[in-house]
Amino acid sequence: MLSSLVGRLLKAKLVGLNSMVMSLLVSGSLVLATGGLFHVLENKRPLEEINRTKHLKFDIVVVVLSALMVAGLTVWLLDGFVRIWLTNNVLLFDSIVSQPLWLRITLALVIGDLGYYIAHRLMHTPPLWRTHVFHHSIQEIYWFSGLRTSAMNSLIIRLPYLVAMCMFAIPASAVAAIAVGLGMVNFWVHSNLNISLGPLNYLFITPPFHRVHHSMAEIAIDRNFGNILSCWDYLFRTAVEPSAELNISEKGFDVESNQVVRQLVGL
Ligand SMILES: [Zn+2]
Ligand SMILES: [Zn+2]
Repeated sequence: MLSSLVGRLLKAKLVGLNSMVMSLLVSGSLVLATGGLFHVLENKRPLEEINRTKHLKFDIVVVVLSALMVAGLTVWLLDGFVRIWLTNNVLLFDSIVSQPLWLRITLALVIGDLGYYIAHRLMHTPPLWRTHVFHHSIQEIYWFSGLRTSAMNSLIIRLPYLVAMCMFAIPASAVAAIAVGLGMVNFWVHSNLNISLGPLNYLFITPPFHRVHHSMAEIAIDRNFGNILSCWDYLFRTAVEPSAELNISEKGFDVESNQVVRQLVGL
């Protein structure tokens, strides 16, 4: 009796582990395939001459360390207590659950993206700048370099989307898929890709638009904060149109070697 119960528990755990490994493999392959696609596109339509290998080793180490810290912090903070608390406390109305999933996801992404815009603006003010300065040390901007963020930065920018997902009762499986999608958005906005979406530039962030955010030119300081939607920047008058001059302008603060660890953690 006891052995069959233990057997069933072990089997359930193994099935859970298998599905976790599977979802990691699927999302990892998707992310790599997207990175490969951006690599090809960047070679076809570059915004500026860049040296991808200049800081590559540094960024690989950063990504591994940051992923370990963020994964640990996310599981501990967001996916555990915080997620349960949010699920029980921030659901807008019970009737939301009966709305179609696509509608709930769209609304959650719009609200979450507004939250991201606000959080990003706050990270450009003194108390939170220390969590974000590391991201602004990128000098060669292309799809992979955008992953250079501090652990605290990654945690803070996940919060608005997570709260919005809980407000609209998005199931955990969809949240995981959206997280992969947001990773691809990060590749997209940092890609060295000369592209315009025409009138949709006023709705969606493009690589040239986010590149302005990284420029050290005076006109570009504290501008273009959005992540998915550019309409927040146009609405709150923080948008600066990209230009050829801004694309090639100087980018990135130097990081003192004794500051790397502090900046990586973001404290
Ligand atoms: Zn910023
Ligand atoms: Zn960026």
